[in-house]
Amino acid sequence: MPKKTNRKPNVAIFSLTSCEGCQFSILDLSSKFLELSSRINIDEWRLISDLEPKKHYDISFIEGNPATIKNLKLLKQIRKMSDIVVVLGNCADLGGIWEIKNYHNYKKYGAYVYKQHQTIDNEKIIEVPKAIKVDYVIPGCPINAHNFYDLIYSLLNKTHWSLFQNPVCWECQINKNPCLLQEGKICLGPIAISGCNAVCLNSRQECWACRGILDDVKEKIENLIKILQNHGYSLQDILEKMEFFGARDRIEAALQPPSEKKK
Ligand code: SF4
Ligand code: SF4
Ligand code: SF4
Repeated sequence: MPKKTNRKPNVAIFSLTSCEGCQFSILDLSSKFLELSSRINIDEWRLISDLEPKKHYDISFIEGNPATIKNLKLLKQIRKMSDIVVVLGNCADLGGIWEIKNYHNYKKYGAYVYKQHQTIDNEKIIEVPKAIKVDYVIPGCPINAHNFYDLIYSLLNKTHWSLFQNPVCWECQINKNPCLLQEGKICLGPIAISGCNAVCLNSRQECWACRGILDDVKEKIENLIKILQNHGYSLQDILEKMEFFGARDRIEAALQPPSEKKK
């Protein structure tokens, strides 16, 4: 961040392999976005225009997954060029739907989908926080753009920013939704980070934890798995739902005893 308070920070928004939905969520801020853009210099944002790349950014936002070797190279360059790196959205943070292939026989299924899958240059999906050091994560698929707005203002004002550690159930029940878990459906709301206004549950779609999982949630995961097994699901059925938005590896890591967790 700029040392002199009268200089506007240089901001970049990069996109790796993604659907670009998180970037469109930022534009959906409309008048709030215009207000924000008067406080920062947006020096790199391919979605808006082809700008001359700079050598340094105060804040870089990264949407999408480094699913190719080219993406991975760019990601490492971004880290070197940026004071603050913010991960934007599920595919960058958790690996997103791309990460499903880490759990399956990619070569076998790849042959059904791609005629020339041998030419795909990076078979293993890596989450951005595992590839480089990140300073903040704005989760979701897509992100809640108000998290983006609040984080930028916190950085401008040098105040603390973090996500509330409440489960999606909290927002789901404020919205008076019937509980799909009690109806015997696989809902990951008890272990997922809130902040989406339980948007899926409002449409009677189960939560599959696109915003990631809460901290210190081992006991809740064990209880959730027991409840679902009592409803007749196999562990494989449950793991498949955890894979959908890339949360499975975080859930499995949370279940390990502290001594076995990777440092
Ligand atoms: S997190 Fe979801 S909305 Fe955002 S870029 Fe990835 S797929 Fe698109
Ligand atoms: S439907 Fe899901 S998110 Fe809502 S209260 Fe039940 S378990 Fe929680
Ligand atoms: S309800 Fe769950 S899956 Fe849906 S947006 Fe919220 S965190 Fe993501």
